[in-house]
Amino acid sequence: MIIHLKSSVSPQEAARLAADHQAIHFNDGSQEVLVLSAKIKEVPGTLQSLTEADFPTDTDIQLASKSYQSKLREITIGEVTIGGDTKNTMMIAGPCSVESQEQVDEVAQVLKKLNVKTLRAGCFKPRTSPYTFQGLGEEGLKILADMHDKYGFNIITEVKDSSHVDMVIEYADIVQIGAKAMYDHSIGKRCGQTKKPILLKRGFGTTLQEFVQAAEFILSGGNPNVILCERGIRTFETGTRFTLDLCGVAFMKEKTNLPIVVDPSHAMGYRYGVADLTRAAIAMGVDGLLIETHPNPAVAKSDAAQQLDLDEFQKMHSTLQPIAQAIGHTLI
Ligand code: PEP
Ligand code: MN
Repeated sequence: MIIHLKSSVSPQEAARLAADHQAIHFNDGSQEVLVLSAKIKEVPGTLQSLTEADFPTDTDIQLASKSYQSKLREITIGEVTIGGDTKNTMMIAGPCSVESQEQVDEVAQVLKKLNVKTLRAGCFKPRTSPYTFQGLGEEGLKILADMHDKYGFNIITEVKDSSHVDMVIEYADIVQIGAKAMYDHSIGKRCGQTKKPILLKRGFGTTLQEFVQAAEFILSGGNPNVILCERGIRTFETGTRFTLDLCGVAFMKEKTNLPIVVDPSHAMGYRYGVADLTRAAIAMGVDGLLIETHPNPAVAKSDAAQQLDLDEFQKMHSTLQPIAQAIGHTLI
């Protein structure tokens, strides 16, 4: 149950009411909001005279639910707006990891030419093995900041653990929480305290309900700018790296008010198939795509098998606008 309190209720009073009702409290920019357990279906008597509007919800998908806000949330990042009534599909592209200034600049030049506005690359890599490349850390963030200054890109880069979340928030235009970090509530809570857009990836072993509940940690901290990212889940199938859950994308479109990004690169795990899955996702009317591309994937320090080379990326990109247009979307 979500409750919008009357404007006569001060933030201090709202905090006290929240403590009394074991509720979460935040200010959404215009009013004090309480989020009570979803099991509560009626406004408690003690809150009735202080309540301006109430929104009972079926499950712990509360702030993200259509029953709270039926309209898709709108998020603006620099010159790019997604969600709301925009029907924009944001292309996010770049290498898996920042490896050097030259490597990122080579990708950036191609993306700039194609009018892609959002550059991705990781500096803190959540690797499965401790013996592989772990990312350049802050040195990588500085390279990305240069790309922002030189070409005007929005930068998206990932946090891996809470030790550097403040630093990443400082450098990035969109903060990515990776699949393995999805359950890290110290990251989620810190990301709830900023207004910076957060792209939350679905853990590969999580249900849709658990995934959206992780988004609720950020939303209920007071950050409305959350983007959900489907990046493939683990199934019995081993022929591909993961299985892209497009049914899950349809579920999220139906049930939630959050913009949705699809990442075919990590789902597929191989460069073949990435272009086809990208086209399928665009045809579903998603709000964004996240594609890995590298000047020379054969020598990439992470995710070498799945990154498109720059020619493959350009070839794929040239096929996308007509698909977006066919369903009334614009690729930006
Ligand atoms: C990535 O985007 O490079 C990445 C590590 O993704 P995921 O968290 O989905 O594995
Ligand atoms: Mn990667």
